[in-house]
Amino acid sequence: MNEKYLVVNCGSSSLKFSLYEMPNEAVIAKGYIEKIGLDDSFWTISYNGEKITGKKKLDNHKEAVNVMTSELVNNNIIKNMNEIKGIGHRVLHGGEIYSDSVIIDDKVLNDIINMTNLGPLHHPGEIDGIRAMIECLPKTKQVAVFDTAFHQTMPKVSYIYAVPYEWYTKYKVRKYGFHGTSHKYITNKMQKLFNKNDVNLIICHVGSGASVTCVKNGKSYDTSMGLTPLDGLVMGTRSGRIDPSIIKFISDESGKSLDEITTDLNKNSGLKGICGKNDFRDVVALINEGNEQAKLAYDIFMDAIIKHIAEYYFELDGRVDAIVFTAGILENNTLIRENIINKLSGPINTYINKVANDNIGYGHDLKEGIITTESSKVPVYVIPTDEEVMIVRDCYRLVKEANNN
Ligand code: AMP
Repeated sequence: MNEKYLVVNCGSSSLKFSLYEMPNEAVIAKGYIEKIGLDDSFWTISYNGEKITGKKKLDNHKEAVNVMTSELVNNNIIKNMNEIKGIGHRVLHGGEIYSDSVIIDDKVLNDIINMTNLGPLHHPGEIDGIRAMIECLPKTKQVAVFDTAFHQTMPKVSYIYAVPYEWYTKYKVRKYGFHGTSHKYITNKMQKLFNKNDVNLIICHVGSGASVTCVKNGKSYDTSMGLTPLDGLVMGTRSGRIDPSIIKFISDESGKSLDEITTDLNKNSGLKGICGKNDFRDVVALINEGNEQAKLAYDIFMDAIIKHIAEYYFELDGRVDAIVFTAGILENNTLIRENIINKLSGPINTYINKVANDNIGYGHDLKEGIITTESSKVPVYVIPTDEEVMIVRDCYRLVKEANNN
C-alpha cells in the first residue's frame, strides 16, 4: 500500500519540504517557506503542475510548520496530517556518533543539540524545525539523516589533522566531510550501473556548496570538506582551503574579530569574494561581458576542482571506475565540464565528447550520461543528485523497521 512521507530541510530562516508517496518514491508536492523570522515571510508549493503561493509574517519555525500543514490540508494534497507516516529531517552534523540515519528520540535530539558547536550555522534552524514537527505530529516517527554519515568510513589517515593530537581526543577536531547524502546517492547509482559494490569513484558535487569525495571500494575514503563545510573547494561564498595563518593576520591588520572573519570566510569569500557574484550563472554572464575579475574567479574555482581530482586520482592509484559530476553547476554548465576534462586529458588520458557534453543539462531533455570519448581511460559521467530521495528512503526503511519490532 502506498504511504505518504515528508522530507524536511530547515535552514536558519527557511523550511523546504517534499511530500513523497512510498515505496514508489513519487514526489506529490514540493515547497519552500522563506524569510522565517522576518516581516516578509513567503511560501511557494508546487502541486499537480500548479504553484500555490502565500505571504504572511512568520515568527518562527513552528509558525512555518503550521503554514505547511494547513496548505497541504486546505489544498486537498492530503486529508489530514495523520496520513503522513514518517518525517525525514536533513541534519548537518552527526559527529562521530552517527554513521547511519536514525529515528529521533530524546537522546538523538540531545546529541544534535550538543553538536551545535560543530554545526553552528546549520543546527539551530534544524533543531527548531525538528521541534516544531514533533510538536505538530507527536506520534509520527521522525528520522534524522546526517550529511556527515557517509564519510564515517574514512580511515584515520584521511580524517586526522596534523595538529596537537589532543585537539582530536579532547575537542573532536577532525575531518568529518559533508554532502554525504549526495555522495552516497551517486555511489549507490554507480554501484548499480557497474553492477558491483566495490566501485572506485571521484565524485565532484559542485553547486553553491561544493565538495569532492574519493570513494574506494564503495566507501568514502577521503573528502574535501573538513570539520565544517568551509574547507576544500572554492565555493559560491566560502573560501575553501586557505592558509590558517590568514585568520590571525587579518585580525591583526584589520581589527576584525574572529566571528567577523569567520563570517567573511563563509559568506563573503569564494566566487563572491573575488568578483562580487556568488551565483555561477551571474559569474558566467560577467565573463561574457569581458569582466576580468569574474574570469579570475572562474579560473580559481576550476583550478581547485582539478587539484582535488588529481589528489584523489593518486589516492586511488589511478584505478578509477568513473569521475562523476553532479549538483547545480556541474549538472548544467557545459563549459566548465569541458574545461575540467581538457585539463585532465593529458595526465589521465580522458577526452571530452563535445556532442554528448553539449546535450546534457539545463535546456536539454538529457540530464545524465557519459561526456567523454569511448577511448578515454576514465569515463566522466554527469548524474543529477537527489538528496531528498535518499532521505525519504532512509526514513521509510527505519519507520518500517521500527513498526515491525
Ligand atoms: P545547487 O546548490 O546544487 O542548487 O547549485 C546552485 C548553483 O548551480 C548556483 O551557483 C547556480 O548558478 C548553478 N546553476 C544552476 N543552474 C545552472 C545553469 N543552468 N548553468 C550554470 N549554473 C547553474
